[in-house]
Amino acid sequence: MVEQGWQLGDWFTPDCLVSIANAEGGWDIARERMQKVAYEITRPEYPASQQEWFRSFASSVVANDPLYQSTIRKVKAAIAAHPGVMQSEIYKGRSEQEKEGARYVLYFAEALGAIYREKSGRSYRLYLSAPANSGHVAPSKADTSTTASESAKPEDFYGPAFDRIEADINWSDAARGQVWATLQPLIGQAPSIAQKSLMPVWPEHFSWPAGEEALSKASQPVSAKGFAKLLSIETSKLAYNLYRVQQTRELYEDPALVKTRNTVMIEHQCAGHDVPENPVLMSAEEFQSANVEPCRVIGCQWNISTLNQRGLAKRGLIAP
Ligand SMILES: [Zn+2]
Repeated sequence: MVEQGWQLGDWFTPDCLVSIANAEGGWDIARERMQKVAYEITRPEYPASQQEWFRSFASSVVANDPLYQSTIRKVKAAIAAHPGVMQSEIYKGRSEQEKEGARYVLYFAEALGAIYREKSGRSYRLYLSAPANSGHVAPSKADTSTTASESAKPEDFYGPAFDRIEADINWSDAARGQVWATLQPLIGQAPSIAQKSLMPVWPEHFSWPAGEEALSKASQPVSAKGFAKLLSIETSKLAYNLYRVQQTRELYEDPALVKTRNTVMIEHQCAGHDVPENPVLMSAEEFQSANVEPCRVIGCQWNISTLNQRGLAKRGLIAP
C-alpha cells in the first residue's frame, strides 16, 4: 500500500499501516497507532500528497471502527434535532476519555462527509452534510410522513446554487470556470476536501465582499483558503435549500397534502441581519404562488419545512 519514494518514519511504515488497516490487536490499539501516524505525518518533511493519502486511508479505516459507527449515529440524531449544534455542546457532561473519542469521531465524520463542521469561535457548529451522496441527511422531522420526491435531486441545483453565489464574486470568466470544474464533483463532501482541491486553481484576482465580511466576522482568515472553504460550504447549502424548495413544490402536487400539511414554515438563523418574521409561516396556496428563494446571507441556516395542525400546535404556532 505504501508507494515507492515515500518518506517513512517511526510510525508511517508499511507494517504499522497494515496493522491499522486490519485493526490488529483491537480497535483501541489501531486508534492509538493511527493517532501516532497522524501526528507524525503533519510534520513539514512529509509531502502533501502523502498526507492526503493518509487522510483518505485513515477515513476508510475509521468508517469500520465500531466506536465510530455507534457514536456517529447518536451525533447525527443530535444534529438532525438541532442543526448547527455546537461541538462543545455534544461534549457536555462527558468524561475526558469520552471527549477524546468524540473528537476522533467528529474529525473523521467530517472527512467522510457524514457531517460538516463550521468553525465558530473556539469550537465548531455541526451540520449534516448536503446530501450529494444521499443517505447522509435524515429527512426533516416535519416531512417524515411524505415519500421522497422522485423528480428533483440535490445535484440538479449545484449549478443554480453556484450561479447565485458567484453573482456576488468579482473574478474572470476563466477563473470562475476553473473553480466550478473543480468544485462541482466535490459539492456535498466535507468542505475541507473541496478547499484542498481548490487551492491549486484558486485565482489571484478574486474579490467577494460578502464572503470577506463573513470571514472577518467569524474571525477566520480572509485568504484564498478561507474563501475556498466558504464557497464550498455555501454552494452545498444553497443547492440543498433550492432542492428543498423544489421538493416542497412537488409535495404539494398532491391535493391531500395541501389540505393536511397546509403550512410552510421558513426559518432563518442569520445573526446580525434583520428578518422581520422568524419563522415565516405561509399557507400551501401562498407558497405555490410565491417565488420562494432560500436565504443567501452567508452563514444563515435557512430551513423550509411543512407542518400539519399538530406540528403547528407543538411549536405553539398559529396557522397563517
Ligand atoms: Zn437568513
